[in-house]
Amino acid sequence: MLTIRCPHCGERTHTEFTFIGDGERERPADDASEAVWYDYVYLRDNRRGPLAEIWQHTLGCRGFALVERDLVTHAVSGTRPLPPARLPGASS
Ligand SMILES: [Zn+2]
Repeated sequence: MLTIRCPHCGERTHTEFTFIGDGERERPADDASEAVWYDYVYLRDNRRGPLAEIWQHTLGCRGFALVERDLVTHAVSGTRPLPPARLPGASS
């Protein structure tokens, strides 16, 4: 079972969290071209190794965290609060 350290609540099982998405992708500007939005919404790199992901502690504090997880081993190497500018729904 995957264990994630919520920056606010401490160690919890991943079943308390909801995966939100890739934390390394930058949302395009609202007026970006259709091709840029297509890439952002539909295309993924499918890479191996460490990746920063956004998770929400939905069965806890409901806060968002940036979780560093290895995509091959699923090992979590660290978490930190998601910066307010990166919160879902935050304007760019
Ligand atoms: Zn929490």
